[in-house]
Amino acid sequence: MSRVMRMPILIAALALAAPVQAQFRLPSLDVNRLVDSVKNAGKATREIDEAEEIAMGRDVAARLLGAAPLASDARTQRYVNNVGRWLASQTERPDLPWQFGVLEAPQLNAFAVPGGTIFITRGLLEKMASEAELAGVLAHEIVHVLKKHHLKAIQKGALASLGGDVAALALKNARSDARDKLVSFGAEMYARGLDKGDELEADRLGVVIAARAGYDAYGLPSVLQKLQAMNADDSGVALMFKTHPAPAERLDMLGEKMQPTLDAYAGQAQLAERFIAETKSVK
Ligand SMILES: [Zn+2]
Repeated sequence: MSRVMRMPILIAALALAAPVQAQFRLPSLDVNRLVDSVKNAGKATREIDEAEEIAMGRDVAARLLGAAPLASDARTQRYVNNVGRWLASQTERPDLPWQFGVLEAPQLNAFAVPGGTIFITRGLLEKMASEAELAGVLAHEIVHVLKKHHLKAIQKGALASLGGDVAALALKNARSDARDKLVSFGAEMYARGLDKGDELEADRLGVVIAARAGYDAYGLPSVLQKLQAMNADDSGVALMFKTHPAPAERLDMLGEKMQPTLDAYAGQAQLAERFIAETKSVK
């Protein structure tokens, strides 16, 4: 009721302001445009629908791929994609267009893009020794998509920096300057990182997804231990360390919240030999 009432009052206020504006030679106000942007600010804070999530994610993925191309080994790409899709099929959003790729980059990192595109770098793959470790990392990224962590951060940031009307336009119109800004903003987020709470949630729920898919639940902790042993000054881990809580903190949090799950599913598959056979040509 109050929302319906507010609009006529706003228009009335602007109409009353017109004579004053003429008197003081203020820059002319475009009443229609102002009313439009008020309406659109409401639209931009609504839930982004799945089609918009997927379309925007594809644009952001393309921008990220411009920075680092996919590794050329087709067997490894197929393998990582299969492991990722198997994990995603165990989740509450099995029907997203999930795709998983290995980026040709020596740094250690992994990224989740809204809508179900997930990348892992060749550098991080090289640090792994089993499919359970790969599954642990991919499951962490899958949670970012399930919980729309990046999507919400992009939406929040776009509203703050671009304004409601531009953000709404950017979502609706793939070929627009506004969309370009939104996608740039989305790509920059991968250099800034998410909130710590989102990262720790991805660790906790990622462990559950990996366990549900039949893997040794210690896959992710095992990778975190390897990262913890690396020098933070190493340029290969600089971005990951900057954008994530420290590995020691992540391990502590998993121990505190997830110990029963970790122990209950510690005996499940690791699949070290399969991992080595399927990834040897990119290493
Ligand atoms: Zn993460």
